[in-house]
Amino acid sequence: MSLIGQSVTVVGAGVAGLAAARALALRGARVTVLEQADAIREVGAGLQISPNGAAVLRALGLQDALDAASMRATAVQLIDGPTGDPVARLDLARLRPDQGYHFLHRADLIALLLQGAREAGVTLRLLSRVAEVDLSGARPAVTLDSGDRIETPLLIGADGLHSRLRAALNGAQHPFFTGQVAWRAVIPCEPGAAPEAEVHMGPGRHLVSYPLRGGTLRNLVAVEERQRWAEESWTLRDDSMDMRLAFAGFSPRVRGWLDRVEDPWLWGLFRHPVAGTWTRVVSGGAVAILGDAAHPTLPFLAQGASMGLEDAWVLADALAGHDSLAAALAAYQTRRKPRTTRIVAAANANARAYHLSGLPRMIGHAGLRLLGRLSPATMLSRFDWLYGHDVTQG
Ligand SMILES: Cc1cc2nc3c(=O)[nH]c(=O)nc-3n(C[C@H](O)[C@H](O)[C@H](O)COP(=O)(O)OP(=O)(O)OC[C@H]3O[C@@H](n4cnc5c(N)ncnc54)[C@H](O)[C@@H]3O)c2cc1C
Repeated sequence: MSLIGQSVTVVGAGVAGLAAARALALRGARVTVLEQADAIREVGAGLQISPNGAAVLRALGLQDALDAASMRATAVQLIDGPTGDPVARLDLARLRPDQGYHFLHRADLIALLLQGAREAGVTLRLLSRVAEVDLSGARPAVTLDSGDRIETPLLIGADGLHSRLRAALNGAQHPFFTGQVAWRAVIPCEPGAAPEAEVHMGPGRHLVSYPLRGGTLRNLVAVEERQRWAEESWTLRDDSMDMRLAFAGFSPRVRGWLDRVEDPWLWGLFRHPVAGTWTRVVSGGAVAILGDAAHPTLPFLAQGASMGLEDAWVLADALAGHDSLAAALAAYQTRRKPRTTRIVAAANANARAYHLSGLPRMIGHAGLRLLGRLSPATMLSRFDWLYGHDVTQG
């Protein structure tokens, strides 16, 4: 199907929406992105983009921008939180040279995707919150808060966890609290820090840290299990003392970082199951969802943004590669749903593995130490299915 001149409306200017917008515009589509915010801005926090996500940025022509904005990671270290002793090392230097694993600031990723979208001719409409989705007519339509009604032959929902489009396709559901909260903060980084992610694991909690922006900043994500999330807001500023208390039993290295945190963000981690229905074809058009709108995940495999990038590529590729919208969108969901379901399940499993206590923890850590010593290559090859998957190669 030729996308040249095809009109497309994307809802949401996050990672998934901007990547889809550029991918479609590069194939000739006339793309408008509707974003509810008054400006494109991001909370101060880091992101890991693994080789499967980086492959999409490369195929979108954004490799140089990614290299300029990011640090190339050399390892992920699993560390016993209380003692600070190493448990296992994922040696990312063993990845093929074309398989980059990157650390970057979320704001920098959004900025490079936004510039990429604009350069491809995408129109961005800020202050355009979609209040209603109507799939009952010949063409999909959305109504904005302003009362404007927009009919479009191709409506793409990249509107995140609270997606209106997901609800239109699957029925309204409230996301559920996963029993985990995450503090996020960025602090100045000690000079000469290695470009390695450190995962400090303790009973019921863990902390991930890595350097950003040429090693000038250090990203911190500290996760704690909680029974309840009582706040009305899902994201709020917290007292840094709460974060320090939660990790008071961790090593001096971790406590030293936390001493430098001021006013961290606290997030209740919510999600939905992977959506049952990702697409619908109506007589005069179609709708599809991608990114967190389709498969919100716990961040414990660092794959939310990378999955959104993969979705964006596959959606554009499927639309360009099939004769009909129905065939294209069926192919899109078939290619994406099993993989994202597997990734979401693996992230859930990491929550359990990182937070072990007592005997299971001793056994688990001992097993990882042994595997790392006997066969370091196996540590990395366990992730071949994830990092080695390049959606841009068909
Ligand atoms: C603590 C934490 C750490 C993480 N770390 C990583 C990591 O290291 N690596 C990684 O790959 N992922 C990570 N993630 C996950 C990643 O941040 C998300 O999966 C990703 O940002 C989702 O992108 P998205 O574009 O699908 O949705 P979003 O980023 O949520 O974007 C949705 C956009 O839609 C807009 N919008 C929503 N509703 C409407 C509406 N009605 N009308 C108009 N606009 C609307 C929003 O304003 C927003 O701009 C992490 C997440 C958390 C919470």
